[in-house]
Amino acid sequence: MTMRPTQIPAASTAGPRRATHPPLPRVWPVIKVDVWWLVVLNAVLIAAMWLRHGGLDNVGSLGGALTAVGQITGLYAAYLALLQLVLMSRSPWLDQLFGMDRLAWAHRWLGFATVWLIVGHGIFTTIGYAIGDNAAILDEAWKLVTTYEWVLPATIGGALFIAVGVTSVAAARRRLSYEAWFVLHLLAYAAIALGFLHQLVVGGDFMHDPIARIYWSGLYVVAAGLILLFRVGQPIVLNLRHRLVVGRVVQEGPGLTSVYVTGRDLDRLPVRSGQFFNWRFLHGREWWHAHPYSLSSAPNGRWLRITVKALGDGSRRVQAVPVGTRVLVEGPYGAMTGARRSRRKVALIAGGIGIAPLRALLEALPAKPGDLTLVYRARAEKHVIFREELDVLARARGAVVHYLVGRRGSPELVRDPLDPRSLHTLIPDIAGRDVYVCGPVAMIDRVESTLRQLGVPPSRIHAERFAYL
Ligand SMILES: Cc1cc2nc3c(=O)[nH]c(=O)nc-3n(C[C@H](O)[C@H](O)[C@H](O)COP(=O)(O)OP(=O)(O)OC[C@H]3O[C@@H](n4cnc5c(N)ncnc54)[C@H](O)[C@@H]3O)c2cc1C
Repeated sequence: MTMRPTQIPAASTAGPRRATHPPLPRVWPVIKVDVWWLVVLNAVLIAAMWLRHGGLDNVGSLGGALTAVGQITGLYAAYLALLQLVLMSRSPWLDQLFGMDRLAWAHRWLGFATVWLIVGHGIFTTIGYAIGDNAAILDEAWKLVTTYEWVLPATIGGALFIAVGVTSVAAARRRLSYEAWFVLHLLAYAAIALGFLHQLVVGGDFMHDPIARIYWSGLYVVAAGLILLFRVGQPIVLNLRHRLVVGRVVQEGPGLTSVYVTGRDLDRLPVRSGQFFNWRFLHGREWWHAHPYSLSSAPNGRWLRITVKALGDGSRRVQAVPVGTRVLVEGPYGAMTGARRSRRKVALIAGGIGIAPLRALLEALPAKPGDLTLVYRARAEKHVIFREELDVLARARGAVVHYLVGRRGSPELVRDPLDPRSLHTLIPDIAGRDVYVCGPVAMIDRVESTLRQLGVPPSRIHAERFAYL
């Protein structure tokens, strides 16, 4: 069933007059174990390569042992840095398996581990060499940086990586605008490139072993290839093909606006309800910022709709984006879709603007009457959006919608409406359902703990966090 807003953007839609079901994104024939195997296999290969090259030959002396630690920390720092690139390559097969929020979470912690390994590599190598040369540590450091090829560039690369790590610590991140943090983060690419040349030119494992060089370069080519393919190539092809423009802008509530985007061949744009794109509106000074927004109605081959809450600069500007503005997108991304469903019955739990993708799922998930239940939590009536659409959808699909409106502890909501007892009262058979959860991070954390207490296994909890930390 397709919801018809009173006026749909028409003229510019070079597509079907009637709503259609665009194709679903391809399902990649991979499972999580495949990825783990690949990661572990390479980690073992690296250790084997290092041992084969005599990594442990000199551990009998303190200098030799420290130098050996310096070598192995250097190898794994480079390997983790490559995994970092792959994690953020926006590869659809990774997104399908883990979801972008989990990939971003892994990227963050692996990033800190990479920084510590880089620091360890520098310290252990310098001290190891200093002991070997019977020199003062600082003298040795100076000698390494000024006389060894590609050590100075690698040191600059290391410093850049540390800067990226430090600015990603929550406390520092809170002080930086997202955009400033993002630009700084791009320095990581330069750091990785500088490290690569350092490894090939002075890396003990690569100077005299052409096979090791080919293997190592191969790892870099794969990582760079995934980035170019899915962060550059795929978006260029998508945007050239679909030529998206803003077709209509509708205010849904205070600081809440829906944007209808039209374009060419939208009936051939593979996307699922529950997914999001990174949107770039070519309007004003913000044209270079891309922000993730989820689809707030099921894809229908004629237009895409997002609904945006004004939070900061970027989302505030979307509220007044002019009709006709060109739009560039990357995606679709996100694993909170029907593809994850394993049970007939489904519960959808939305908080605030998290209603957007769940409203799309309520419209699109195949279901019989009684299969779908939506719980929509909002702090005040004015923040409730899509009420008419949700009620019409609920009637048409035989779904149940519970509106939980008010402040926790207020007369309307004396107790936490999302605690185990309250949620069980609303959906007694929730333990046997798939549960989709979307909203602010704190709300999702609370609901996930409630669901675990109610016996919903993690494999049937599908969440999308509207912030990456
Ligand atoms: C997967 C996903 C889906 C989302 N879907 C919606 C939606 O349908 N509707 C909606 O209103 N909001 C959605 N959001 C949130 C929305 O992306 C942010 O509110 C918006 O990016 C804030 O940007 P800003 O410039 O207005 O605010 P800022 O003040 O710059 O940032 C506010 C917060 O948003 C985060 N943020 C800013 N820019 C980005 C970015 N480019 N990528 C990731 N996080 C960013 C910042 O870390 C900060 O925590 C979604 C977020 C994610 C991660």
